[in-house]
Amino acid sequence: MSAVFPIQSVSKGCADAPVLKERGQREVFCGLTGIIWLHRKIQDAFFLVVGSRTCAHLIQSAAGVMIFAEPRFATAIIDERDLAGLADCNEELDRVVTRLIERRPEIKLLFLVGSCPSEVIKLDLSRAASRLSSRFSPDVRVLNYSGSGIETTFTQGEDACLASLVPVLPPAAAHAPAALMVVGALADVVEDQFARLFKQLGIGPVQFFPPRQANEMPTVGPNTVFLLAQPFLADTAVALEARGATRLPAPFPLGVEGTTAWLQAAASAFGVDAATFEGAIAPARDRATTAVARQRTQLAGKSIFFFPDSQLEIPLARFLSRELGMLLAEVGTPYLHRQHMAEELALLPENTFLSEGQHVENQLDRCRAAQPDIVVCGLGLANPLEAEGLTTKWAIELVFTPIQGFEQAADLAELFSRPLVRRLRLAA
Ligand code: SF4
Repeated sequence: MSAVFPIQSVSKGCADAPVLKERGQREVFCGLTGIIWLHRKIQDAFFLVVGSRTCAHLIQSAAGVMIFAEPRFATAIIDERDLAGLADCNEELDRVVTRLIERRPEIKLLFLVGSCPSEVIKLDLSRAASRLSSRFSPDVRVLNYSGSGIETTFTQGEDACLASLVPVLPPAAAHAPAALMVVGALADVVEDQFARLFKQLGIGPVQFFPPRQANEMPTVGPNTVFLLAQPFLADTAVALEARGATRLPAPFPLGVEGTTAWLQAAASAFGVDAATFEGAIAPARDRATTAVARQRTQLAGKSIFFFPDSQLEIPLARFLSRELGMLLAEVGTPYLHRQHMAEELALLPENTFLSEGQHVENQLDRCRAAQPDIVVCGLGLANPLEAEGLTTKWAIELVFTPIQGFEQAADLAELFSRPLVRRLRLAA
């Protein structure tokens, strides 16, 4: 494989770098947010949040602008009578689900999504899901997971959702040939690009998880190797490994370098020779390299500060520092999975300031002291920081936008250059 472009020599990057661990008040969305992109991905699934009016408000406002047809998510509201133990929540839930399935026969997969209120009253949604699943199978499968905001961050909703699906994935035949599974919700356009590249590389069969339809679940077994397409899928990876699958260690497919290395991991596992690899990826890689270089003029030398939010922070920091020449003031992440991040950490510049968890006041102090050119943070922090004169980028936008792969590398860089250019125009 030829190098993408002259890579700064990094002896060991941040593989063993110290990490500031913080515990304190956090400013993050909860796992219910994942419903917004998951319901678009699995097109015959329905997400029924069992929660409060606050939960309903959160997903309605996060998705509100996109609802033109009948949405595939809703909230079964737990009200005061339920909280006081005056009503039987299980009976109520069964009634709501029955009505929903009668009215929406196209639903093939129904997730009961737990929330802080359902966890506080200890409503056992796994029992409810198996009760309802046996009642409505084989037409509808009912599963459950938690989207609660207690001690979690918003991308963990996807992890919990996918982990709940792993036990029901069909087993691969005992002597099935090696198959590749790409794990993590990707925009359809990105998935199609990767499918084409894998085909050109001669790698197959390739299955994407989650699939677009509930009846297209990938098979899994000891012959399955999987690539994580998203860095926040720790529980899903554990569940897949428990089913015999093997994770291919790789950086994440962000930017030219990350995408090349990610594809290379699959190519090595499937014995693709160097010439075939180069021939298959060179056109898209070279186009992306040129497009990213244009963004570099805006971003090189600019400093960036990451608040912990999406768990995409470390791969993004690697991309922005190595391909765009940005300076990393601090890279915060809600959780640091050293094994899944090993390849990413090794590529970060040495002495990068890494922090895990959050104590928002302390971190705000460090951010103000650093005066970075751009701050990546949650919506709750963005407005106050903008008012203080800092330029911000919403972390959640990076999850909603297609950013993986060669074709999206320059768009990803532009997500950071655009707010900087806007700020410069406002100042002029
Ligand atoms: S799950 Fe918890 S954090 Fe999320 S909206 Fe509901 S109450 Fe709020």
